[in-house]
Amino acid sequence: KDQQSLVETEQPQLTFDDVGGLEEVKQNIRMNFVLPLQQPEMFEAFGKQAGGSLLLYGPPGCGKTFLARAVAGEINANFIHLELQAILSMYIGESEHNLHDLFEKAREEKPCVLFIDELDALGGSRHQMRQHHERMLVNQLLLELDGLESFNDQVFVIGATNTPWYLDTALRRPGRFNQLSFVSPPGAEERATILQLKTAGKPQQDLDIRKIAGATSHFSGADLNQLVDEATQLALHRSLKAGSIQPITNEDLTQSLKNRKPTTLEWFQTAK
Ligand code: ATP
Repeated sequence: KDQQSLVETEQPQLTFDDVGGLEEVKQNIRMNFVLPLQQPEMFEAFGKQAGGSLLLYGPPGCGKTFLARAVAGEINANFIHLELQAILSMYIGESEHNLHDLFEKAREEKPCVLFIDELDALGGSRHQMRQHHERMLVNQLLLELDGLESFNDQVFVIGATNTPWYLDTALRRPGRFNQLSFVSPPGAEERATILQLKTAGKPQQDLDIRKIAGATSHFSGADLNQLVDEATQLALHRSLKAGSIQPITNEDLTQSLKNRKPTTLEWFQTAK
């Protein structure tokens, strides 16, 4: 079948503990996605079902995809990752058909997190044919999202975009995505947590995580990840040369920091 070449199902091992910060978003997800599965009687008594949708937005590299994977890990669900561009590159008709099949697939593999990335691809175009194509796909997506509620089928749709201002307005209306959450760049405290997570288990010597967290304002989680990767690389090279394990040092981190710039500032400057 077509969609099988388009996306694969995974069973992520990540959990919320692997995601640094974003406490509010996690709490929101716990309340809407996790607890309804764990305590269905409680939620049913109040007319609430397990399932639904959530829209994540914010600067690149701050953990939208990572968090969506962790949601699946957290509830032992399957995970399907769809990049909308891939589906938009198909013919009109074929796109909608494939989107429908994906939702079917998610239902078959429930509980399932269906992650739809690059949602802004639906709404930015000025090209007429393309606009028509996007509109058709938006309509199909709205149909599928509407269907979620009546099915009560433990399918969780998480949409993501870096540019919510380009998103088709029909998708932003209430009742389309039940929940909306901003995935913000990490603050100093959260950066420390992320640095801790990324260095954990690696040979290291008295790392001053607080100091690095303080010196990395406006860094995204992805920026911090790269920073640690580069420092790791330095220690690894040293180790290979020495023929014995040489730990990651503060110097390695400061050295890597020299080559890095924060990437989230630009987002706030271009945000509309
Ligand atoms: P994009 O919009 O560019 O797709 P994104 O918001 O989906 O970005 P991710 O792909 O989730 O960002 O993040 C990239 C990498 O950065 C992750 O694989 C992870 O290693 C790291 N990362 C980002 N945010 C966090 C976080 N809060 N905690 C731990 N790691 C993070």
